Parts: sequence; structure tokens; C-alpha cells
Amino acid sequence: METSRIAVKGIEFGGPGFVVIAGPCAVEGAEQMELAASAVRRAGALMLRGGAFKPRTSPYAFQGMGEPGIRILSEAGRRHGLPVIAEVMDASQIPGMLERVDVLQVGARNMQNFSLLRALARLRRPVLLKRGFCSTVREWFLAAEYLLDGGNEQVILCERGIRTFETALRNTLDLSAVAYAKLHNRLPVIVDPSHATGNRDLVIPMSLAAAACGADGLLLEVHPDPDRALCDGPQALAPDEFQTLMEKLPKVLESVGRFLGAPSLSRASV
Ligand code: PEP
Ligand code: MN
Repeated sequence: METSRIAVKGIEFGGPGFVVIAGPCAVEGAEQMELAASAVRRAGALMLRGGAFKPRTSPYAFQGMGEPGIRILSEAGRRHGLPVIAEVMDASQIPGMLERVDVLQVGARNMQNFSLLRALARLRRPVLLKRGFCSTVREWFLAAEYLLDGGNEQVILCERGIRTFETALRNTLDLSAVAYAKLHNRLPVIVDPSHATGNRDLVIPMSLAAAACGADGLLLEVHPDPDRALCDGPQALAPDEFQTLMEKLPKVLESVGRFLGAPSLSRASV
């Protein structure tokens, strides 16, 4: 099925160019984001990620910096010519994010938060919709319909692993769902191997597998100092590991008729 193309400040999702989004799980401060943005930009990422509102399993874990984190993320992105993505956990956070965030992410835990989806449907802003870890592909597609039917056509799907009987890894990366979505859904589909595996040693091989099976891009956790990350350190790539991945991707992409998306000329001069 022909994939719809979604443009984010000159970057195209769903076209022949493969889009890599990278950055830390959570915004922790201005210096961390500066180091992260410069490292991922240097290695060829097209967008910067960083959560400011974090959906943590424990209420005692770091919950994110909130709105100041959104400001830090957007400033780091602007300095390095990288559009930014951050998770929106609640509709009340939308107004504070609209001015500074280019793609709004709906996390796995909120995939079926229908009032949030309805609020995002009214916007003219791209939404990245993660698959819930206990959701079927059909439920994922129907969650996307809430956005499309509500008037927002700019939806990107993201497979981030599902919960199965397997316990060796954080989740089970369902790459067959990605291949299936490419056949049966018009929306671009990207893969998050960081949350899918929970283990940085598996992020490079699963990223290459995602590229091979037809994904339109990747959402990756990269931290300047993973061992000191406040959130999800064990699955974060260090900058040199991210660089290694970016060097390996072109060969795999070429074998499936794709290429690594490059910064557009207008962004290169930012
Ligand atoms: C994230 O990307 O920061 C995140 C919390 O992911 P997920 O919703 O897939 O768990
Ligand atoms: Mn994370």
C-alpha cells in the first residue's frame, strides 16, 4: 500500500528517506541536552527526542522536568537545526508544547486515551502514536483512526515492543506488525528498539532489522553518559555506539531500495 508522506520542517516520513530520531529518554538539564543534540546531529539524526513529562511505573521515580524541560529541548533542537519530539501525557499539557514541539508523541500507556486522542485530532500538528504494549495491531490502527477521523491526517505509527510470555527482555519487538502495517495501513511506521528491548546491546541489531523489514525510520534513546541517565540508562546508546549504527544503516537500507534521510539544504544552513 502506498504510504502517505508526512512533512516535519522539511523532513519527510514515509518517503524513500529513512528518518532517524534520537536523544535521551528524559530531558535532565541544559548541558545534557546540548551534548545529546550535538552528538546525534553529528552522527546524522534528523530529529531530537527528549521527554519532559515522563510516564514512570513508580511514582517515586524521576517524573521529568515538565515545562522547563520542553524549553530546554526546543532550544537544543533549534541550536542544532533539529526539529523536536516530546511525549504529551495529558491534554492540559498541549498549549505549553505547541509553540516549542514539532511532533507530539502519544506514549504506549496512552494509546487508548481517547480524550487525549480527540484533543490531538483537533490540532494541525504531527502526532507519533506508539503501539500500546498490550494492544493488538487492530487496536493500534483504530487508535490512529481517532486522530484521522477527528481531522488530523499527520499521524506516524511507532512499534515499541509488546508484552509477551518472554521475560528475558523488557518487551518483544513485533517486527512482523511493522511489515503488516506497511501492507495494510497508509501511515508511516517507525520502530523504537530502545523500549522494545530495554538493552543497548540489542539496539543496533534490532535497528538494522527494522530497516530491513520496511520501517520508515527509528526512534532511539541516546544519552551522552548512559550510566548516569536518570531514566532508561540500560537501553540508551552512547554517542559512539549511535555513530556506529548510523554507519551500518546505509548498506541495509540500500538492499531494500531506501537511503538514510539527510538534512535538507535549508536546515543545513541553520
Ligand atoms: C518514551 O519514548 O519515552 C516512552 C516512555 O516510551 P513508551 O511510551 O513506548 O514506553
Ligand atoms: Mn525511555
